[in-house]
Amino acid sequence: MQAELELFQKLSQKLLHHEKQEGVVKPIEADRLLDTLNLELDSQGLDREPLENLLEDVVLSTPRTSTKLFFNQLFGGRNPKGTLGELLAVMLNTSMYTYKVGGPQVGIEKVIINKVCELLNFGKNADGTFPPGGSMSNFMAMLMARDAYNRDIKFEGVSEKMLIYTSEASHYSITKNAMFGGIGIEQIRQIETDAYGKMLPEALEEQLEKDIKAGLNPFFVNATAGTTVLGAFDDINAIQEVTKKYKDLWLHVDGAYCGAVMFSDTYKHLIEGVEKADSFCFNAHKMLNVPLSCSILITKEKHNLKHSFACEADYLYQTDDDDYNLGKTSLQCGRRNDALKFWTLWKSIGTTGLERMVDQQFKLAETARDYIQNHPDYELYSYEDSISVCFNYKKIDPKDLCNSLYEDGKLMVGYGEFQGQTFVRLVAINSNNQEEDILNFFKIMEAYVEDKALELITT
Ligand SMILES: *Cc1c(COP(=O)(O)O)cnc(C)c1O
Repeated sequence: MQAELELFQKLSQKLLHHEKQEGVVKPIEADRLLDTLNLELDSQGLDREPLENLLEDVVLSTPRTSTKLFFNQLFGGRNPKGTLGELLAVMLNTSMYTYKVGGPQVGIEKVIINKVCELLNFGKNADGTFPPGGSMSNFMAMLMARDAYNRDIKFEGVSEKMLIYTSEASHYSITKNAMFGGIGIEQIRQIETDAYGKMLPEALEEQLEKDIKAGLNPFFVNATAGTTVLGAFDDINAIQEVTKKYKDLWLHVDGAYCGAVMFSDTYKHLIEGVEKADSFCFNAHKMLNVPLSCSILITKEKHNLKHSFACEADYLYQTDDDDYNLGKTSLQCGRRNDALKFWTLWKSIGTTGLERMVDQQFKLAETARDYIQNHPDYELYSYEDSISVCFNYKKIDPKDLCNSLYEDGKLMVGYGEFQGQTFVRLVAINSNNQEEDILNFFKIMEAYVEDKALELITT
């Protein structure tokens, strides 16, 4: 193992060095990948040196999500403390299903969940888990809602049409989950949003009344804290006002993207009313820059987690109280340790440190919006209180611009679409960035456009 640890050090140092020199790697075209890198598997293994060289080639030609030129997705940057925790989790290689195997790691997970429940005022019966990502957090919430609506479904299966309500700007995992959960895509009501990307509570109410009048069975309402494109926050209080009239409705808040505003005194008002929801999730691998993936789901009533996810298995649960056998509340059996990396970060910088990270992202987004608004060649499509900054530049086709920047190895940034408009989406989620890094983004993009003016398509 010693040799591998040394090689790990060496390759990591090389990567860090290269990241500094070159924030974006020129992509290898997908259909040329197997000709470029020796990825195919053979009956004979590679010797130490060629393996080392191959690993180096693979590492150095992989897209760099941790540099100051990556604005492409809802994660980015490398948090050193989070990375340390992740590396230790790999070394320990525990599974989180039982206390017997996880030991203190189980305690670490429980401490985080309890603290999150406390910070959100979820009450003394609340509990949670670390699902494998935000999509799966939303899935677990939907399953709890389904089983709370009808406690026999887990025995008998779904036998009636059950309706889901979510905004048209919500994440596509809601659709996937309706497929997996036996609910069906056609039972989703996509509720209209306003110009800011927030669900219209009156449209929700109208749809609910119509469906109930028609004898249908609404069971799940999903509100989003940070929509995937515009970063908009649904008004949880207003939505809850509507849902509370219907006692069987479960209210989930999908905070995968921006639920971590809970850590900021300045921005937690964006999820005001969250304590009235039945469940809530956020991804620490998004705003908190913890390595992928780290997602937390909490729910008001612990018994709902148990009802939907506990199953007896004598070969597994042999010791300890079920409160410490976390396999009784999880989707999978063997489960990786996603808690240690978040705990290492949280422990090292405290809750106020998490707050600074969140605040920094809003500050960076403001810098970007200010820049855009002060430069007449730009058009802005997003709003305050969002870390997604959406814009177009010189009427250049945003897909063409983003794809060219990527292919030429200049910047990683993506485009999005909302209400018929397509635009570049700059995600200000890397809290290691400073304002000058944001300004540098615009400088690189503008110089590139000047260089390529004739080749880029304008709309
Ligand atoms: C990212 C995101 C998800 C999905 O999270 P994964 O961890 O990628 O599965 C769900 N909802 C919203 C709003 C998101 O932004």
